[in-house]
Amino acid sequence: MNKKIVFGLVLSVMAAGVYADESDGIFSFRVGQFEVYMLVETQREGNAGILIGADGAVLKKYIPSGSFFHSTNTFLIKAPGRNILVDTGFGGAVFDKIKKLGVEAGKIDAVLLTHMHGDHIGGLQKDGKALFPNAKIYLASRELEYWTKTNVNQGAVAALAPYGSRVETFEPGKLGSKLKEILPGISPIAAYGHTPGHTVFLVENSGAKLIIWGDLLHVALVQFPVPEISASYDMDTKAAARIRRQVFDYAAKNKIPGAGMHQVFPGVGTVEKDGKGFRFVPANIPAN
Ligand SMILES: [Zn+2]
Repeated sequence: MNKKIVFGLVLSVMAAGVYADESDGIFSFRVGQFEVYMLVETQREGNAGILIGADGAVLKKYIPSGSFFHSTNTFLIKAPGRNILVDTGFGGAVFDKIKKLGVEAGKIDAVLLTHMHGDHIGGLQKDGKALFPNAKIYLASRELEYWTKTNVNQGAVAALAPYGSRVETFEPGKLGSKLKEILPGISPIAAYGHTPGHTVFLVENSGAKLIIWGDLLHVALVQFPVPEISASYDMDTKAAARIRRQVFDYAAKNKIPGAGMHQVFPGVGTVEKDGKGFRFVPANIPAN
C-alpha cells in the first residue's frame, strides 16, 4: 500500500486535501474544520439497461460502449468532537477503512442515512447486534415510515432493530429554504423520489459547504448532462428526475460541491451548467 499524504487545493471551493489514495479507495478533503473521507466499498462496471427513458442517441453520445463504472461509497466526517458516518454501504470495507483512519466502529457517534436500500444500511447490524454500538441513527421520518410500516423489507426493519431508541427521525428541509440542523453543521434536505424519504445532507462549516447527495444519481456520465433520465432503482422516476435537476441547479448556482454514493473515485466534485444539462467536474486527485 502506498500511502500519500497531500496538502493542496482540491477544489477552489474546498480547502486543503488531506489524504488521497485511489488504490486504497479513500479520498479526503476539508469542509471548513470538518475532515471528510470518501470511502469506496466496491467499484465495478454497470449496465446501461438500468437507465429509464434514455434513447439510443443519448446512450451513444454519453456511454458509447454501453457500460460505465459505478461505485458504492460511504462518507466519514470527522467533526470537532464527533465522528459521523453517512450511510454504511453493504457493510464490507467501511469497517477496515474507518479503523485505518483511527475511528473504530465504537467511536462513530452518528450514522446519517440517505435512505434504506441494502447498499446503504448493510453495515448497521449483524445477527441482531448493532455494529456501531455507540451511534445514534438519523433518518427521515418518511423513510422510516415507508420501510417499516409497510414492512416491505425485513432487512430494513432488522437494520434498525438493535438501535432501539437511538433511532432519531427528522423532517428534512426544502431545498433553497431555511434549513434546520440535526447536528452542528449538518442539515437534511428532502430529495424524495429515489425512495419515499430519500434525503441529501448539506454539510457546512466555517463558510465551506458540501452536499452529500446519496442516490440522487447512479450514472454520472448520463444523468449530469440529462438529469431527466432516471434509473430503474428510482422508485418514483419522475420525482427523482425533478429533484435531481433541482439539486444540480442549486449546487451549480451556489458553487457547492457534491458527493455521491455511486460516483467513482474521488466521488466528489463540482457541478457546472452545460447547455440544457450539467457537467460534473471531479475533484483533483493530487499527485503524490
Ligand atoms: Zn444505492
